[in-house]
Amino acid sequence: MTRPYDIAIIGGGINGCGIARDAAGRGLSVALYEMNDLGSGTSSWSTKLVHGGLRYLEYYEFRLVREALTEREVLWKMAPHLIRPQRFVLPHHAGLRPAWLLRLGLFLYDHIGGRKLLPATRTLDLAADLTGTPLKPGMFQKGFEYSDCRVDDVRLVIANAMDAAALGAVIKPRTKVVRAVREGEFWRLTVEDTRTGATESVMAKTLINASGPWVEDVLSAKLGINAGAHVRLVQGAHIVVRKLYDHDRAYIFQNGDGRIIFAIPYEDDFTLIGTTDKDVTGDPATVSATPEEIAYLCTAASDYFASPVTTADIVWTFAGVRPLYDDGASDAKSATRDYVFELDQKPGSAPLLSIFGGKITTYRRLAAAALSRLAGELPVAGRSTWTASKPLPGGDFDANGLVALAAEITKAAPFLDATDAKRLARTYGRRAIALLAGARTRADLGEDFGAGLTEAEVRYLVANEWAMTADDIVWRRTKLGLRLSRAQITSLDAWLKSTVFSAQKA
Ligand code: FAD
Repeated sequence: MTRPYDIAIIGGGINGCGIARDAAGRGLSVALYEMNDLGSGTSSWSTKLVHGGLRYLEYYEFRLVREALTEREVLWKMAPHLIRPQRFVLPHHAGLRPAWLLRLGLFLYDHIGGRKLLPATRTLDLAADLTGTPLKPGMFQKGFEYSDCRVDDVRLVIANAMDAAALGAVIKPRTKVVRAVREGEFWRLTVEDTRTGATESVMAKTLINASGPWVEDVLSAKLGINAGAHVRLVQGAHIVVRKLYDHDRAYIFQNGDGRIIFAIPYEDDFTLIGTTDKDVTGDPATVSATPEEIAYLCTAASDYFASPVTTADIVWTFAGVRPLYDDGASDAKSATRDYVFELDQKPGSAPLLSIFGGKITTYRRLAAAALSRLAGELPVAGRSTWTASKPLPGGDFDANGLVALAAEITKAAPFLDATDAKRLARTYGRRAIALLAGARTRADLGEDFGAGLTEAEVRYLVANEWAMTADDIVWRRTKLGLRLSRAQITSLDAWLKSTVFSAQKA
């Protein structure tokens, strides 16, 4: 058996991988276990925004909003390929919140988060501005345009895992923690390879339960501990439709029920619409968008767009479960989005830190705060803000340099068309150049799986990003699933099994 790790982490979502990166960079020995693919839990089902959360101001969540607003520019600089500025249009709806209230909220939004690079809010005349064109004629005169960022959520998880691994962390996807017991000053974990069923025993000085919606289940079923804090599982669904309009702005629409939904340009040819808030119980892995949620999103979007959004327009739906800290709020939409830690520690015994809640946006701050909570046990003092100043893998280029990077990629591989070069730049950042290294013609990239996906890219993902199945590749490490047929995805899966993984077994 290897010597005890400083930290063992249960869960390879954004929080687990963010903590692994931070801790490994501080020189701690780290092992992270994820029972499925990295980022396959809640972290791949978000609205894909790095945002302050304008709506949370109504619930007086000033601490969370300030921290989240500040993180926007920090994360954008760390990974400009995965996180990009996005302008949002908020139409004023005569029957809902008054214009003065929206203006006040946006004034706070512009000023409490240390905004430096993102452009400020401006007022729009929707009758004259092009963003008014897709909306119902004559209904929306005034609007506001403000800044947030969008993110490739699951790639951000993987980028953190890659950097953690580069810094020495052991990252184990498809490995489930089936049991953990305290043995004096250590934790003994039993971990199971979910593909082979083989188990292994590992020791750690501290244990972090970053299992998101499974946090309470892990505590009770795997660790035999009764949690003091409780998780509130709140489902949110999204629909993806063919692009609804031609400009590059997103919309935030207020609904009559006090909620908001977003309509966001997505993967160039689509619009992402979401989300919902629905309390759920049961296995978080099996949720899907319900007919009621789909109807709700279509109706809410159709209240604003001139052309109604119908189920016939939908090309994809997805749903995820927010692992919110249960603060006793009466309805799901008002439950806090802030994170809460529960530290289980008795004198002379190994500590356990459980994480409730959190946002993709605040993962880096959550990671640093989690390590601070363990400062008594681990030598983590100092370098506490190091994660902000080091780019994530592929992110070592100027924050506004994505177009220049795509041009550089085209120069390195002139046979690529502009669409493929742009996609590679946005997906891999500067690492796209290494992925293409040595190729002089398209044929040098090997098998063509469709939609621009080549053997070179697939092999890169297997070798560098823990990809094992077609779904890992077409739904998480890329979103090419939106463009590939079912038959193409099946043949990619067959190719992976017969070519890559059979060769590894041999
Ligand atoms: P997860 O990503 O779920 O990771 C936990 C992991 O633990 C899972 O992968 C699971 O497989 C693993 N695990 C569980 N049990 C075990 C075990 N026994 N052994 C090993 N592994 C285990 N945030 C934003 O900032 N912006 C947004 O726009 C946004 N939109 C959202 C929209 C929706 C609909 C939802 C649901 C959430 C949204 N969020 C957003 C919130 C954000 O997605 C979550 O807070 C965040 O992804 C939670 O990450 P996590 O690492 O805690 O959980």
